[in-house]
Amino acid sequence: MAGSNGKANGKKKIGVLALQGDFREHVQILKKLGVEPVEVRKPEDLEGLAGIIVPGGESTTIGRMMASSGLLDAIRSFFYQGGAVWGTCAGMILAASATTGPPQPLLGLMNALVERNGFGRQVFSFERDLDVQGFEKPFTGVFIRAPFFEDVGPGVEVLSEIDGRVVAARGENILVTAFHPELTDDLRFHEYFLKEVCGI
Ligand code: GLN
Repeated sequence: MAGSNGKANGKKKIGVLALQGDFREHVQILKKLGVEPVEVRKPEDLEGLAGIIVPGGESTTIGRMMASSGLLDAIRSFFYQGGAVWGTCAGMILAASATTGPPQPLLGLMNALVERNGFGRQVFSFERDLDVQGFEKPFTGVFIRAPFFEDVGPGVEVLSEIDGRVVAARGENILVTAFHPELTDDLRFHEYFLKEVCGI
């Protein structure tokens, strides 16, 4: 590739877990932002990544597929070795250390108790302008059967909440959002993840 456009070499790679859910939208946005997206389906795909996005979808399905493919342990090791992780919606559920609901496979990367479908099953989706720590202007959150963190432990910084329900938070190398920035034209959360969490 050397010489073809000069960019191919230094480009940073960001993974998107591509087992189920809306990973394609994240892939498109990462391309727009000039990083190289990698669809992650097996542990080897994590090699050389600066970070990984765990997308929205169905958290029990994604969790079971991660367990059977070896990715549950592989993403944990990736994270504990300093790799950055961003969980959106189902990905936020999977990032939590505990859930108020029935047991399901979790990555457990963040010291937090998650309430799945926290805004009520009947409220399938809604939009809300959110004040987000570090953002100058509100961010329109698209919530679809969204979770929230009911309680967070030490090391978790709350970035946004709705009436005391945590809908965005971060740790040193992890970000979670209960809503779907990939379904809007606002790239600020993707930029935030790349810059502030992945450090690229
Ligand atoms: N509530 C869903 C779950 O439990 C997540 C919904 C979403 O990712 N949009 O998996």
